[in-house]
Amino acid sequence: MYRTHTCGELRLADAGKEVKLAGWVQRSRKMGGMTFVDLRDRYGITQIVFESDANQDLCEAANKLGREFVINVTGTVAERTSKNANLPTGEIEIIAKELTVLNKSDVPPFTIEDDTDGGDDLRMRYRYLDLRRNAVRSNLELRHRMAFEIRRYLDQHGFLEVETPVLIKSTPEGARDFVVPSRMNPGEFYALPQSPQTFKQLLMVSGFDRYFQIVKCFRDEDLRADRQPEFTQIDCEMSFVEQEDVLQMFEGLVKHIFRYVKDIDFKEPFPRMTWADAQRLYGSDKPDTRFGMEFVELKDLTAGSGFSVMDEAEYVGAIVAPGCADYTRKQLDGLTDFVKRPQIGAKGMMWVKFEADGSIKSSVGKFFTDEQIKAWGERAGANPGDLMLILAGQTAKTRKQLCELRLEMGSRLGLRDPQKFSCLWVIDFPLFEWDDETSRYYAMHHPFTAPNPDDIDKLETDTGSVRATAYDMVVNGNELGGGSIRIHDAALQDTMFRLLGLSEQEAQYKFGFLMNAFKFGAPPHGGLAFGFDRFVSILAGLDSIRDVIAFPKNNAGRDMMIDAPAEIDQSQLDELKIALALPEEK
Ligand code: ASP
Repeated sequence: MYRTHTCGELRLADAGKEVKLAGWVQRSRKMGGMTFVDLRDRYGITQIVFESDANQDLCEAANKLGREFVINVTGTVAERTSKNANLPTGEIEIIAKELTVLNKSDVPPFTIEDDTDGGDDLRMRYRYLDLRRNAVRSNLELRHRMAFEIRRYLDQHGFLEVETPVLIKSTPEGARDFVVPSRMNPGEFYALPQSPQTFKQLLMVSGFDRYFQIVKCFRDEDLRADRQPEFTQIDCEMSFVEQEDVLQMFEGLVKHIFRYVKDIDFKEPFPRMTWADAQRLYGSDKPDTRFGMEFVELKDLTAGSGFSVMDEAEYVGAIVAPGCADYTRKQLDGLTDFVKRPQIGAKGMMWVKFEADGSIKSSVGKFFTDEQIKAWGERAGANPGDLMLILAGQTAKTRKQLCELRLEMGSRLGLRDPQKFSCLWVIDFPLFEWDDETSRYYAMHHPFTAPNPDDIDKLETDTGSVRATAYDMVVNGNELGGGSIRIHDAALQDTMFRLLGLSEQEAQYKFGFLMNAFKFGAPPHGGLAFGFDRFVSILAGLDSIRDVIAFPKNNAGRDMMIDAPAEIDQSQLDELKIALALPEEK
């Protein structure tokens, strides 16, 4: 037997027991005639003491231990004289009697501590060592706990977990596919699923009624901190449901997770906001509602002053930063620089200080009287001591810029506490999105999303204004998931494909199997998918999903540890009948 207890288990009540522990040497230090070793495993750290008076050989052996050696120790649990309140096992130590080195270790390339000296690249290259650190390990523990609770809730509600294939044909999510060449069918390729969308809809045709899957999905997109080429979805679909049924079921799931994983009880229903309101009030389809600071529109109040920036703008919008009227010139310049960054792209920013004494200072005083500016403050509900920040320009663009400014102010004012959670549904998304570059409509969600029944008669005449029966769950400004009620009528699906510019042949080639299935009694159905990695990272209070994934890829899509992607042998290429046409190296 390697161990009687784990390294996180023993307490003062165990004093006097003879125990055997196994683990990794976190650190060791010599003090006088004693050597102290912190022994670590997944469960915690226990202090081991080797006394040279009692056993000199043993103590000498302990002095030779290096960091990350794997050892076995037998000894007696004793009360510590100097206790460590930060450690669950901090009241005890083990007086060692026997020591076995189970395996040596090279000196690790970074320290395996909460605050490590290892940079990102190094930690990714040695991810298996990084995973020994508390921070990363606890994220994976959280991930496991959540997956378990998700399965428990969905099982309780009659959902079946069904696996769907990974080698498939393109799915409708609209990102770039990862493809896999078929050796048995030269010249032909599988696509990896961007989601199991078509399969879950087919399962509804099969009568499975309530399906879910915690499933890997693949999208070949340029990567950002919060994206991975392979990621995990909680993918769900239900039959004989309307939007309301889906929202209730999955609001229940999110509440269940918060209750059983985070001990947070959301008693009230999650608010619902239309997509149009989310744009109007927050300039985003995923508003961070942990704080207010909603947009106020001032176009009508600013018109006709002769100030061209506002007069010529389609939209003038403001936010009010409470208590910030004492911002210095430098701070205001800093905010102007912020909105002028290329990735935000505003031309400038205007400001008004509603001073505590009732006076007004502003960057637009040349064009407006105090009375006029006071009216802006009244509309915005600004109080003495508040600062108003104003942007003007083309509506959609300016709202996006104001959204960034609002988030920045929220961060500066400490209003975006990662341990506070604000959830809502965004509903009534537009069905289509116009793309200027290609001069055509795209499906905002995907082409199987049903139009809002009230808007069906506008499909041909006022295509851009048709609302979808689509919904997103938003938490703290992140899109946690989304879905829709699906089209289950073949004729409506044909119309949809046509409006999206897909010829009949193309539609048949891409999704013929689904259209055929729909001829055999497709039930009304709908569903959604949550981003599981994102869900875990939000509960862990992290910005990036990287540290909730055991073996993630870097921003160039590389696995630094196994060094993938990699070249393959010529013989493999030959078998696949593939010739490479790489650009000449310079
Ligand atoms: N397949 C969709 C997605 O990945 C989710 C859904 O409509 O259920 O975004």
